[in-house]
Amino acid sequence: MENELRQLLAEAQAKLSAVDTMADLEVARIEILGRKGKLAELLKGLAALSIEEKKVIGAVANEVKTGIEKAFMEAESRLSVAAASAKNESEWLDVTLPGIAPEVGHAHLTTQAIEDITNIFAHLGFVRSRHPEVDWDYYAFEAMNMPSDHPARDDWETFFVRGENGEVKTGAKGKMLLTPHTSNGQVREMEKGVFPIRMISIGKCFRRQADVRHLPMFHQFEGLVIDKKASVTELKGVCDYFAKSYFGPDRVTRLRPYHFRFTEPSFELDISCSVCGGTGKVDEVKCKLCKEGWLELGGAGMVHPNVIKAGGLDPDEYSGFAFGWGVERTMMMRAGLNIDDIRILYKNDLRFIRQF
Ligand SMILES: [Zn+2]
Repeated sequence: MENELRQLLAEAQAKLSAVDTMADLEVARIEILGRKGKLAELLKGLAALSIEEKKVIGAVANEVKTGIEKAFMEAESRLSVAAASAKNESEWLDVTLPGIAPEVGHAHLTTQAIEDITNIFAHLGFVRSRHPEVDWDYYAFEAMNMPSDHPARDDWETFFVRGENGEVKTGAKGKMLLTPHTSNGQVREMEKGVFPIRMISIGKCFRRQADVRHLPMFHQFEGLVIDKKASVTELKGVCDYFAKSYFGPDRVTRLRPYHFRFTEPSFELDISCSVCGGTGKVDEVKCKLCKEGWLELGGAGMVHPNVIKAGGLDPDEYSGFAFGWGVERTMMMRAGLNIDDIRILYKNDLRFIRQF
């Protein structure tokens, strides 16, 4: 039996020094040291021996078991060193190399402009609000003093929303449409019933137009003040404050009489040209950017009494002023951007977007 034990040790040592994967090592472990392994089988023979023999053979058995376990540990450490060096070989990393900087994005220039505009009006106590961009005819036109079939509606080339049956969707407030201007927010804001109002609503607008100067989707910012003593003077002051804050302290504004259905009186707001400083001429030559020293920013005016009535108020008690200007147009004026095709703003061309 002593011989058999010593033979098992020699056999195990030979086998383990040749094993070359962890999986084979595990198989060998079960075969030799397992509960039903070769060592356990041999030791069953101990029961038949005399006490004297047991002492001798028991000592040999311990020696053999220790020897086998040592052989396992050596094989295991040999294999793990080999695995680690193979891994190092394949995943070698030079920690002294400079890293790859993660690409950091930034807000789109329209988003930046919206934030700037919001902050400027916040200084005057205007609160940003949002109104639906899919709305009813009533809020976009009817309540804005443009009854159905009124020719003024033609200026807003409107998208209507059709249902599955191909018909324009219609509800209690008329046809469903994509808002062609942010003015739909005026009566909606009044319907909240909290006065006075100093609202700056910035949102998307949609019109059936797409060419180098027009986008089918663009942004407007709509200011609305409803109070008991709102005046043209205050409107002029607000416009002027915005122009100086956004475009620079040397810019001046003027209100030019105009006509809109939802304001009375109505104005176009012009701002002095940055290139010629409002003179219309650069070195005795006509300025290429402006018409006679002024650039057109957008419409403004005192809220029409019919709109105030639509908002549930008495026009003899309340008055107000409003303005609605294009975000894209305004930001391009500030940056002095002369873009050949305005549609590039939303083409996701990173070469363009990264410049801002
Ligand atoms: Zn000019």
